[in-house]
Amino acid sequence: MIPEKWRRGEVAVVGLARSGLAAARWLTSQDVKVYASDISETSELRSRVQQLDADLVAVDLGYHDISRIGQASAVVVSPGIDPDAACVRVARENDVEVIAELELAARAMHDTKLVIVTGTNGKTTTVALAGSILSTGGLDSSVAGNIGRPLIELASGNSIPDWVVVEASSFQLHDCHELAPVVGVLTNLFPDHLDRYADLDSYYADKKRIFQNADSQSIWILNGDQPAVTDLAARAPGDRLSWSLVGRADAWYDRVGKQLMLGEAKLVERRDVQLLGDHNVANCLAAALTGQAAGVARDNIAEAIAGFAPLPHRLELVGTIGGVLWINDSKATNVASTRVAFESMDRPFVALVGGRHKGEPYDPLAQAGGTMCKAVVTFGEASGVVLEDLGAVMWVTVAGNFNEAFEAARDLSEPDGIVLLSPACSSFDMFENYEQRGERFRDLVLNQ
Ligand code: ADP
Repeated sequence: MIPEKWRRGEVAVVGLARSGLAAARWLTSQDVKVYASDISETSELRSRVQQLDADLVAVDLGYHDISRIGQASAVVVSPGIDPDAACVRVARENDVEVIAELELAARAMHDTKLVIVTGTNGKTTTVALAGSILSTGGLDSSVAGNIGRPLIELASGNSIPDWVVVEASSFQLHDCHELAPVVGVLTNLFPDHLDRYADLDSYYADKKRIFQNADSQSIWILNGDQPAVTDLAARAPGDRLSWSLVGRADAWYDRVGKQLMLGEAKLVERRDVQLLGDHNVANCLAAALTGQAAGVARDNIAEAIAGFAPLPHRLELVGTIGGVLWINDSKATNVASTRVAFESMDRPFVALVGGRHKGEPYDPLAQAGGTMCKAVVTFGEASGVVLEDLGAVMWVTVAGNFNEAFEAARDLSEPDGIVLLSPACSSFDMFENYEQRGERFRDLVLNQ
């Protein structure tokens, strides 16, 4: 699968987090010379880079050698690198083939059946659920992609699973050209990353790339409640299965009977699903259809769904202290995800919202909070915008830092109520990532 041209020159790997390192390792295992670079230069990265084969890999940390990348025989882009970054642009300008780490891995694993999950929100949860369903069904399967393990790492392993469920971001899809999933899942489409994309259409266009190599054998699992999703898939050949929270579909929520349905048959009772919120019912339905498409029996699908506990930082119950429920939803990094978190609250709650503003207005949170949301405590760079958007219609308090925000939320919380961290913003103004933000919240809650 390695083009001869790649072996004649060197392949540039841009970004050296876990995926970039694994991509460099896989390329060298195929006797390809690599130029690998990363803008950061931490001692941890330095020591990890030392594990690469120095004869085959030249490394720059702290900068990218743009002219060297422009002369590479191909460029492999790590997830999280903006497709329009100067270090990638130079390759496109010089007609150098640019491919995502995901594409490299998919080309290396041609016998594996790939399920690609994309969409704005719910990807990780859906991938984890689908992965659990496939393994409960006895399939030789694994999960990969943004959920944690780069797909190229699996390609390098001794035994490659028959099935892999992959979480794919729009950035990764941007540089996929031959990727042809057996099953593709599109969870939903909401405005996001307006700080990184010129406009919403370009963001959706990257998501649409999941369909680019569709054929009559493809299976598309789609959110039937969102015309934007069904429109995006409109021209793709293949079978379509959809789920709905509001009407009958291939998988649907029987709200009256309080049960999740697969076709005409009951899958599982709502009370047996451990996840909060209707959006998680949607994730379960999407994953159930994925299991069905892979041939898993309904009982196994039901068993996996009922056994699935919330993932960390996604409406995760940290503890109940003095009757107050403390919920960590630090992974809610856009307004749409915080909106569904607000809608999931069935008791009076105080919300912690803020961080780095990504460009979306916060107004939809007022309606989502309804009468249950008693106060919003806002923090970080976004606090001015949050106050401006919500201050006239909700009780909004501005906190100086995260600890003060926590204390304000504690003081405002009601007996038997909820304190919800669901920031609607990225964490990068105060934390390294959303995990660190969620862990700080957890520490503050458990040590109060
Ligand atoms: P992703 O991997 O796409 O970021 P996650 O499963 O990690 O999605 O969930 C991130 C956040 O998005 C959650 O904290 C939740 O608030 C929200 N969310 C999850 N599933 C959905 C969904 N189906 N629709 C809308 N929002 C969702």
